[in-house]
Amino acid sequence: MKRKQQHKNKMSKATVALVGCDTYAEQRVYQAVEAGIKLLGGFTRFVKPGERIVLKPNVLFGSNPDKCVSTHPAVLKAVGRLLQQAEVDVYYGDSSGFGKCETNMRRAGLKAAANELGIKLADFDKGRAVTHQEALLNKRFVIANGALDCDGLISLPKLKTHGLTRITGAVKNQLGCIPGIRKSQYHVKMPSPYDFATMLVDLTTLLRPRLYIMDGIIAMEGNGPRSGWPKHLDILLFSEDPVALDATACKIIGLDPEFVPTSAPGEKARLGTYHDENIELVGEDIASFIDQDFAVVRRPPVAVRGGRWRILARNWVCPQPTIDTGVCTNCGTCVSHCPATPKAVDWHTGDETIPPTFKYDRCIRCYCCQEFCPEGAVTIRDTFIGKVLFH
Ligand code: SF4
Ligand code: SF4
Repeated sequence: MKRKQQHKNKMSKATVALVGCDTYAEQRVYQAVEAGIKLLGGFTRFVKPGERIVLKPNVLFGSNPDKCVSTHPAVLKAVGRLLQQAEVDVYYGDSSGFGKCETNMRRAGLKAAANELGIKLADFDKGRAVTHQEALLNKRFVIANGALDCDGLISLPKLKTHGLTRITGAVKNQLGCIPGIRKSQYHVKMPSPYDFATMLVDLTTLLRPRLYIMDGIIAMEGNGPRSGWPKHLDILLFSEDPVALDATACKIIGLDPEFVPTSAPGEKARLGTYHDENIELVGEDIASFIDQDFAVVRRPPVAVRGGRWRILARNWVCPQPTIDTGVCTNCGTCVSHCPATPKAVDWHTGDETIPPTFKYDRCIRCYCCQEFCPEGAVTIRDTFIGKVLFH
């Protein structure tokens, strides 16, 4: 009997709730978030009165909400309002690639939204070391104080494309709980996209957000996560299972979840499931949201492991970042954020009046330059051999 019960638990499905919403008008978003939470059984399943709960939006650089780089303020506000009605002490925070958390929150319109409700900013600029013995790969993290000094997190990812991990979704959203530039050091430590993704899974099993609410009302396709194009998908997704949530988002944008490198380690770590048969969709019919034309790279990331030929093989097959010199403003952001030592993108000629160039032998293909470029001047291009092999 006991064994049967265990089997049943093992086979219980992950629930993902889908709610349509075609606008960021506050009241409409509020109603949609309320409906989504209700489909999962109500906020009382996730929080208790008096608890300190931190909302973790995806902010990146704090761009204007119209650019769709960050979780929209209307989503933060709707979740915050509902939590306050549940008598929760609500905070918010995220550590972006650079700059102070508060500055980026202001730029993204999230600070104004939070201030209207009296939601307080948590400390995501400083952190402390934490060990994670059950981790698959990375057993030590430095985590933002704000993410540690709370009773629980609610993760508010934005549905966007990402050069390294295909999408930046529910699992990847916890990367912003690592304060400051420490994040980019993981690219050096773990240059394989699969190791990097396993680290993201470890981070999420450490932090265990209680709930994930994904902003897919206007998503980002193309050259994401910063320089892509806004695309209406008109949907909010809700789940306790971040792997299932990301897999459902993949289904909507016509991407095989196998191509998202957090999927397999996410299942291995028992963080969740990405297999259709283990996911129960509730709410609106997913068919009405599917967009097969969504611009996303539909193949797995390429990883080249150790050995003497690694650099050569990487240069042959791994997609390369390139700079459109007509768009580049020569700001140097890519240079300052390149984690490779020595820098792979730099003014190698010594002339800082012209756009930087790449030394691909040094490049670990983290695509931070593409992610951080404020002008969208950096794109990721397939190599000739990569095209032949993977298309
Ligand atoms: S050049 Fe770009 S992709 Fe290469 S290591 Fe530097 S930041 Fe990463
Ligand atoms: S970050 Fe973009 S705009 Fe700035 S120097 Fe690099 S490529 Fe040019």
